[in-house]
Amino acid sequence: MTLTVRAPAKINLHLGVGAPREDGFHPLTSVYQAVGVYDDLTVTRADGWSVDLVVADWIDRSHVPLGGANIVDRAAALLAAHHGLVPSGDLHIDKAIPVAGGMAGGSADAAAALVALDRLWGVETSDADLLAIAAELGSDVPFALIGGTALGTGRGEIVEPVADHGTWWWVLVPSTEGMSTPAVYRHFDELVPDAPAVPPMPDALLAALDAGDPHALAAALHNDLQQAALDLRPDLAGLIDAGEAAGALRGVVTGSGPTCVFLCESADAARATAADLRTAHDVVLVTTGAVAGAHPVSYV
Ligand code: ATP
Repeated sequence: MTLTVRAPAKINLHLGVGAPREDGFHPLTSVYQAVGVYDDLTVTRADGWSVDLVVADWIDRSHVPLGGANIVDRAAALLAAHHGLVPSGDLHIDKAIPVAGGMAGGSADAAAALVALDRLWGVETSDADLLAIAAELGSDVPFALIGGTALGTGRGEIVEPVADHGTWWWVLVPSTEGMSTPAVYRHFDELVPDAPAVPPMPDALLAALDAGDPHALAAALHNDLQQAALDLRPDLAGLIDAGEAAGALRGVVTGSGPTCVFLCESADAARATAADLRTAHDVVLVTTGAVAGAHPVSYV
């Protein structure tokens, strides 16, 4: 038996960050959207356990750990322990989500592994248990399971779908150099020593999503980590200006960066913006959201 599960990258339409909690995590109020950039994860029945990887030609394979340190190994171990099993299967990751790009590629792989191994092992984990295991693996993993557009609270792991009546066109510009998420949060803590205990709700953004209005959504996009990310990577400010000058309604850093995302009014506007940005950047992707969370795409 061989099964392929596809899991999407996320972007943050809103990322509100509070003061660190006692457990060290930052409280978040996040609006996630799953977009059409995917990792595919294929599992085949086997007696032992193995993980291998191929990457898109613009991704540096050496940045993805193998041999136990990959998040899919942890996903397999947790799911197996939940059912009193030992992990088994040959797992193959086909990666197109930027690594350390603020797009939760590792979390997507973890979500894909949970969905794929649940089927491979025939264990029929309940949705509630799968979401709990996902939350243990990482704050962004539950969202990678549900996809769509969702509000994330807690440390981002408590997710609920929100009303979204748009088809949103995005241009994404990943960086060849990733950025350390903890370093960006550390710098945020220095910049904003008086962050709130619970970041406020992004009411205007939620209304723009519900209305399906790209101009209102563009005006409401917000990322509390953006200043910290720009301080660590000053070149990104020029990229955001260039994308907006090329016709995007708005450009922002997504998550902890360094990927920048540009909301465009239409498919044509996105293609034109991308064409312009490609004169200075090697990798410029055009995509839409929202798309589904981790889901099987082939089964033989
Ligand atoms: P974060 O969830 O920290 O915001 P990100 O989206 O910026 O992450 P990821 O691509 O998820 O970045 O990877 C963060 C780090 O996790 C990588 O630098 C890598 O060392 C490690 N990692 C472990 N497993 C994976 C995986 N399957 N894919 C990508 N990175 C992985």
